[in-house]
Amino acid sequence: MTEQAAPTPQPARLTVLSGPSGVGKGTVVAEVRRLFPHVWVSISCTTRRPRPGEADGVQYHFLSDAEFDDLIASDRLLEYASFAGHRYGTPRKPVEQHLAAGRPTLLEIELQGARQIRQRMPEARFVFLAPPSVRELRDRLVGRGTEATEVVEARLAQAEVELEAHDEFDVVVVNDDVERAAAEVVSLISVVDA
Ligand code: 5GP
Repeated sequence: MTEQAAPTPQPARLTVLSGPSGVGKGTVVAEVRRLFPHVWVSISCTTRRPRPGEADGVQYHFLSDAEFDDLIASDRLLEYASFAGHRYGTPRKPVEQHLAAGRPTLLEIELQGARQIRQRMPEARFVFLAPPSVRELRDRLVGRGTEATEVVEARLAQAEVELEAHDEFDVVVVNDDVERAAAEVVSLISVVDA
């Protein structure tokens, strides 16, 4: 009798959602989760301080610089980048574990990190969330009121760099309406190419 190998789940698609600060990635991701609870969303590490309402281990793992250095030194980040004076990175192990278990996995990261994932995992799908206009982006960043003026300016300057890179992505989703944009992202996550 030949031995039957246990069926292994197909590796699921990894989706990278990127786009300028203020475009509404967080709101869209929350709606994606609501529409498609099967998705697993990576929790990043960051050296920035929590904003009011953020909790450690929920929006981010909030780390010291030394703790972040340790993760880099021990190769425990899949990608990492500096953004507006702080560092952000994706813990490697949970992503690998969820993909191996067949769970559609979503990373919400900035451009430098998306480029690193493109190098390491070219089979991932890269989605760029774009604002309806640059003016709208500025209004959202200022209106959010979570950052000081100079931080808003730094984020806007970075946003312009990120906007120019939209054609590096497989798909551009315009965030003109959160529910519509989220539904489009869900259709990209849940449909696997033949
Ligand atoms: P915020 O400080 O507004 O939460 O995030 C700033 C930027 O960092 C956003 O563009 C966000 O997508 C990005 N970001 C969050 N987590 C990661 C990560 O793990 N890696 C990278 N490269 N960027 C991240």
